[in-house]
Amino acid sequence: MRPTVIAGNWKMNNDLEETRTLVRGILSGIDSLPSRDTIIICPPFPFLLTSYDLVRGTRLRLGAQNMSHFDVGAYTGEVSARMLMAVGCTHVIIGHSERRQYYGETDAGVKAKTDRALQSGLIPIVCIGETLAQREQGETSQVIAHQIRTGLEGLTAGQAAGIIIAYEPVWAIGTGKTATPAQAQEVHIGIRSLLAEMFGKASADQTIIQYGGSVKPENAAELLGQPDIDGALVGGACLVAESFLSIARSAKS
Ligand code: PEP
Repeated sequence: MRPTVIAGNWKMNNDLEETRTLVRGILSGIDSLPSRDTIIICPPFPFLLTSYDLVRGTRLRLGAQNMSHFDVGAYTGEVSARMLMAVGCTHVIIGHSERRQYYGETDAGVKAKTDRALQSGLIPIVCIGETLAQREQGETSQVIAHQIRTGLEGLTAGQAAGIIIAYEPVWAIGTGKTATPAQAQEVHIGIRSLLAEMFGKASADQTIIQYGGSVKPENAAELLGQPDIDGALVGGACLVAESFLSIARSAKS
């Protein structure tokens, strides 16, 4: 059975003091969660080091919300994978729909960042998902397939087994609308079959596929109870320690 992986995407929220309070709040409840599950927080870049000072030596993992696909050099405003590792990151979110929507990120860019993250030793959380218009036009599976084929092209079976994919229907992010557990499970099965076609069944069986989109304590158990939903990428509800912990407590394992 795959472990459950719960990640909190703080986006551009919290100040320094709120960062300390939230990290401490999550740490105060983390030991009651099943030990095989992975819990990750993704604060904004300026608060990673402060967060690392608090999580170091605990089981709470640290992730970033974005990274450069370049290794080093004259790329003003960018942050490299190596820099993220230097401040304690183990994970990085790549291709979030807000990055695609507001900053023009493409599937080719997602591939470049995913490759760089893996080369550097970071675990990428690769985000994919369809818009409302695409769902209404019956294009969900084609859109997802294109994002996966382009974004993960060229990975080895071992690399594909070790990444995290976050299926986040764009219409469910920050809107309060959630995919039903059945809708999400259906897409997750499709993702896993495509991974099996690309990388082999043994690899696909290991890949963690998270669901994201208005996950909250009230709907987490049903979503996480689906056989192919291996975790959650949580936005709004991760900003309150108790609600983030409560989602993590809903995990099936
Ligand atoms: C997200 O930003 O990845 C997300 C899922 O946000 P929310 O939970 O607020 O919908």
